[in-house]
Amino acid sequence: MSKYWSDFVHQLEPYVPGEQPKMNKLVKLNTNEHPLGPSPKVLEVIRAEADDRLRLYPDPDSAQLKEAIAAYYSDKGYGVEREQVFVGNGSDEVLAHLFLGFFKQDKPLLFPDITYSFYKVYCGLYQIDYESVPLDDELAIAVDDYLKPNGGIIFPNPNAPTGRLLPLSDIERLLQANTESLVVVDEAYIDFGGESAISLINQYPNLLVTQTLSKSRSLAGLRIGLAVGNAALIDGLNRIKDSFNSYPLDRLAIAAGAVAFDDREWFDKGCELVISQRDWLDGELAQRGFESLPSAANFLFSRHPQHSGESLAKGLREQGVIVRHFGKPERIADYLRITVGNPEQNQALIEALDTLL
Ligand code: PMP
Repeated sequence: MSKYWSDFVHQLEPYVPGEQPKMNKLVKLNTNEHPLGPSPKVLEVIRAEADDRLRLYPDPDSAQLKEAIAAYYSDKGYGVEREQVFVGNGSDEVLAHLFLGFFKQDKPLLFPDITYSFYKVYCGLYQIDYESVPLDDELAIAVDDYLKPNGGIIFPNPNAPTGRLLPLSDIERLLQANTESLVVVDEAYIDFGGESAISLINQYPNLLVTQTLSKSRSLAGLRIGLAVGNAALIDGLNRIKDSFNSYPLDRLAIAAGAVAFDDREWFDKGCELVISQRDWLDGELAQRGFESLPSAANFLFSRHPQHSGESLAKGLREQGVIVRHFGKPERIADYLRITVGNPEQNQALIEALDTLL
């Protein structure tokens, strides 16, 4: 193995995914999965698709899924064409493609210093220069700090792991001030209380919005992500995809993803459950002295002034409840990221905390 090769691989700092425990007795509130489960119509179509056709390659264009996504957002009045939609194997893969294709620039890519940690991993993998922009004193994205020369901007909205939402008016301000660079809004959690920036794609050719079916559509196990934006950007993503894996989505995922967008009733019911449970959990945590950031996501980012984040995460774990504790950077060392579960799971979390505190 040449020296270059081994040096390159060894300097990579890969993403560390949240734990997927083998024991299913645990109350699992650590990786922001949806408590309701997929729509019964989605399960039905997966069963119907699982036949002899699995010997054939799937549609490399995933047209059925793209059409369902375009129809969903067009019905909302956003005017999305199929040519403005890209799909991939989870939004992580969509992000991987767009980092490779669009963010290797002379100037640094900007993203918040506390955000989805995969961004830094892709910068390491593709040797992309970046600058992390500090969140403000309230752990919110400071829009004014992004109004400077850059090779692109990316942030989640709501941000992860804080859950804080940036209003669309701030996103427009960013887009207007950065017409020469690509602005990517990662909307993994947008359906739990925000308004999608997909409504802006026809006005701003420098905007790309990514989303996932892992959270609000309860399909993390199928790995489906998407991007919506100007057709020229989507064409660029398709070229990258076809230089990497022409069939990122399998036959079952394409059919199931399309039905997940069609079944709006199930989707609405799931989002309402999460939002009402988030409000309940927020209130219960506050009564016990927790301070939580305002969340528009399916998780709460909370700390207790008298207990370290580490001891809380450990104490919960000992009682069979797992939440995410990042520990770094220092500013968020005492915060826990708690996924909003179903009523029983949330109750179990509160009871475990009552034993601990
Ligand atoms: N973006 C953000 C902000 C996330 O938190 C996640 C989930 N870990 C993703 C993207 C990736 O989601 P997926 O690959 O499951 O679509």
